[in-house]
Amino acid sequence: AKSIAVLTSGGDAPGMNAAVRAVVRAGISKGFGVLGVRRGYNGLLSGDVEEMNLRSVSDIIGRGGTVLYTARSPEFNTPAGVQKAAEACKKLNVVGIVVIGGDGSFRGARDLTGAGVPCIGLPGTIDNDIASSEYTIGFDTAMNTAVEMIDRIRDTAESHDRCSVVEVMGRRCGDLALQVGVAVGATSILVPEVEWDFQKDIIDRMRFAQKSGKQHFIIMVAEGVGGTTELAKKIQETTGIETRATILGHVQRGGSPTLRDRVVASEMGYRAVELLEAGSSNRVVIMRGGKIVDLDITEALSMQRVFDKKLYDIALQISI
Ligand code: ADP
Repeated sequence: AKSIAVLTSGGDAPGMNAAVRAVVRAGISKGFGVLGVRRGYNGLLSGDVEEMNLRSVSDIIGRGGTVLYTARSPEFNTPAGVQKAAEACKKLNVVGIVVIGGDGSFRGARDLTGAGVPCIGLPGTIDNDIASSEYTIGFDTAMNTAVEMIDRIRDTAESHDRCSVVEVMGRRCGDLALQVGVAVGATSILVPEVEWDFQKDIIDRMRFAQKSGKQHFIIMVAEGVGGTTELAKKIQETTGIETRATILGHVQRGGSPTLRDRVVASEMGYRAVELLEAGSSNRVVIMRGGKIVDLDITEALSMQRVFDKKLYDIALQISI
């Protein structure tokens, strides 16, 4: 029988399980065998592959992480590795693979398609850092987790008239810092996409807010900006306000996916199987204009991210 395979690759994100579930259930409904590949592309190379049935994905829609595990595979990231993976797929009668991950994983999917195995990519990363898609599976959960954590920090910062410098994830992409910064009323938001100046964009803004009586502050920092601990020290030295640094770290990657992530993952997973059924390959399923559509992987990988400068400017004007 013809089979399709599903794997999760790169960084994990809440909602990946909901996507796996949708692929397995849609695949079986459409008459395919469905194989679950463990630990990303590594599972294709090592043969760590399991036949899935309708019940293999029971009770995972609400679970964070990925039941298929995930990995970065240096071996796959070579022409010989891609060839070996393609041969493994042919032996297993795999006629298509759904790859859930980020741009790195999509490059792998493009290469594997080139080696004769039709691949479909699904955007899964908490960073929302995939240029072709307005939205990535896991982003909503990560934003909500960060807001919940920072609300707690805010309570104590407020009680002690403190400044809190909080770092959220996002190495190349400030979307998480921007959205969360707006949601928690951060006085300053530092992201890799926008140049900033210590005096003008942090200290002057704090001083201005102090004049109208504000006594506690949250400064949002995206991981890609970094230097959070040093920044907190420098703010304390400059202003005399007690300042603490918090790096939220991996709490943002875990937890039960929100409704939005579960629903988007379900729709995207279903779409991926529809595409394989129709004989499409080298496509990514993306969100554009709020709708789920698909796009050629190579075209998707050539796109540039657009930062929401409008929202950034709104934040500057109202978080004072
Ligand atoms: P993400 O998918 O979250 O961007 P990575 O960039 O770590 O994560 O990529 C995940 C995996 O995808 C890598 O370990 C590798 O196996 C594969 N991969 C990444 N880049 C390439 C590439 N340029 N060509 C082929 N495979 C790649």
